[in-house]
Amino acid sequence: MQVERVGVVGAGQMGNGIAHVLALAEYDVLMTDISADALTAAMALIDKNMTRQVSKGAISEAQKATALGRIKTTQTLSDLGQTDLVIEAATERETIKQAIFEDLLPHLKPTTILTSNTSSISITRLASRTDRPEKFMGFHFMNPVPLMQLVELIRGIATNDETFNACYAVVERIGKTAATAEDFPAFIVNRILMPMINEAIYTLYEGVGSVRSIDTSLKLGANHPMGPLELADFIGLDTCLAIMNVLHEGLADTKYRPCPLLTKYVEAGWLGRKTKRGFYDYRGETPVPTR
Ligand code: NAD
Repeated sequence: MQVERVGVVGAGQMGNGIAHVLALAEYDVLMTDISADALTAAMALIDKNMTRQVSKGAISEAQKATALGRIKTTQTLSDLGQTDLVIEAATERETIKQAIFEDLLPHLKPTTILTSNTSSISITRLASRTDRPEKFMGFHFMNPVPLMQLVELIRGIATNDETFNACYAVVERIGKTAATAEDFPAFIVNRILMPMINEAIYTLYEGVGSVRSIDTSLKLGANHPMGPLELADFIGLDTCLAIMNVLHEGLADTKYRPCPLLTKYVEAGWLGRKTKRGFYDYRGETPVPTR
């Protein structure tokens, strides 16, 4: 199964990065979003990020121009019907993802592979609601996509070898490394990472440390490149909460209970960098802790 045309659903933090790396690997990319603004912002960001790669000598000006030319945008989901592979990277909510696949199905070629970039939702369950569970799997990029080397490939119960091999080949062509995970809540990276972030938020909630002292501790004490609260802001606090809820419900263990302070930030609409406020306030020159 040769993949040449790829549809990306969702032009947010992840979708634009996914389109970026696919286009540089000479795939034709069609990116869609319900928001026209998100599509415009995504194209501007891809341009900016590729310009940075040119200035660092990672790619040439000609490669940038060709890659940008390979990315088309549309607000009509059904336009993705003729692609060989769809990577869904919309908001981390199961009802949204389900509705996207449902709306897309009548327009798809029989051979199109469907994948989701979900951080935590059951691939098997998403697949079971489509007409092609054997052609469905998890294609989980890390943030920021152009910089992070890993892609988790998650097989649902029904995923066949042809689908897995086709996705594996895409990972190789974009120059990244695949790790295979079984389809259990949050897979590998977030199963380990998210409880650590949640614990950091509990540490703040219980007054054990301030935002700065918690982040400094993990950076200098455990050699993490970013502190856990800084990282939570980077990922998006809504996404962090959604993943903790999936772990909590899916594994039925209280050790995955989302911290009430995380819920409070999400209720406030303080979702981290993307809304300019989270555990830090990003509206000024330098980020300032909000607690
Ligand atoms: P985001 O909030 O930046 O972007 C989501 C985009 O989806 C928005 O532009 C929104 O308009 C769009 N959208 C919502 N409903 C849609 C619909 N019905 N059709 C088309 N577009 C729609 O979120 P994100 O951080 O890019 O996360 C997207 C997915 O990637 C989630 O499943 C998330 O779990 C996963 N993911 C996120 C990270 C991370 O660090 N943020 C890492 C790996 C995977």
